[in-house]
Amino acid sequence: MPENPKGILYLVATPIGNQADFSFRAVAVLQGVDFIACEDTRHSRPLLERYGIIKPLTALHEHNEDTASSKLLDRLEQGESMALISDAGTPLINDPGFPLVRLATERGLRVVPVPGACALVAALSASGLPAARFAFEGFPPRTSSARRALLESLADDARTLIFYESSHRVLDFLKDIAQVFPPQRQVVVARELTKLHETILRCKVSAAVSYVEADPNMEKGEFVVLLEGASAQKTKEELTSEQGRVLALLLEECSVKTAAALTAKITGARKELAYQAALRMADKKN
Ligand code: SAM
Repeated sequence: MPENPKGILYLVATPIGNQADFSFRAVAVLQGVDFIACEDTRHSRPLLERYGIIKPLTALHEHNEDTASSKLLDRLEQGESMALISDAGTPLINDPGFPLVRLATERGLRVVPVPGACALVAALSASGLPAARFAFEGFPPRTSSARRALLESLADDARTLIFYESSHRVLDFLKDIAQVFPPQRQVVVARELTKLHETILRCKVSAAVSYVEADPNMEKGEFVVLLEGASAQKTKEELTSEQGRVLALLLEECSVKTAAALTAKITGARKELAYQAALRMADKKN
């Protein structure tokens, strides 16, 4: 914390579950600023008070951030300092703050990040999936057709894919993944990170739905879902998402052998590859 923090906008990460993840620096910065903007003052006040942070709080959420941001930054220009926090984790990561930060940079104000917990980074680091290149997609769309369209557009992406998902949609999302992604692709479901019931499920796409269905607890809490990217070698060994889709449709009408042969004819997939995939799909149905 600078001795004279005037005119600075701090972006301060708060814990995503385990309160011990609140950093010393985060607490010191929050104790030092003139005021704190948060999503919901009723949610943040108890956490802040527990750490001796007694500051004026102002609400900044998705419904007022376009209009309120400018007024908050006026106060910084008059010499005050402020911190932005979210309900949990890092501000702006699927949370409010983007208009505020963009405007602050446009006005030439100093923006200082105070890093800490972030669910996508925590999940990625523990997933066992490659972390060198990844794509964070936030929350998938709410309808299955839009979700599948998104997944299809990502099926050949070589990067690790990361999604946030809510407890009441996680099973449907995994079902859509199983429809679109090759069955051998690795999926990781990271639940309740840093909390008492933290669970990290690592399995093949083809097995995820049954694992989650078998354990009622797997549909409770907060989730990050990660998908292994398509590696060049793997894409050669697997059907593409489009080939898989054609095969699945044909399997509804024909035998494994005929569906595989027709898929190979229609899409140019290797016959043996289509046959192996058809066997796995038929197996999953039974
Ligand atoms: N800003 C937050 C961050 O830095 O991760 C994310 C906020 S977003 C509104 C909330 C979503 O993040 C949840 O629905 C869930 O998908 C994910 N999430 C947050 N905390 C989590 C946790 N402890 N375990 C797993 N996922 C979590």
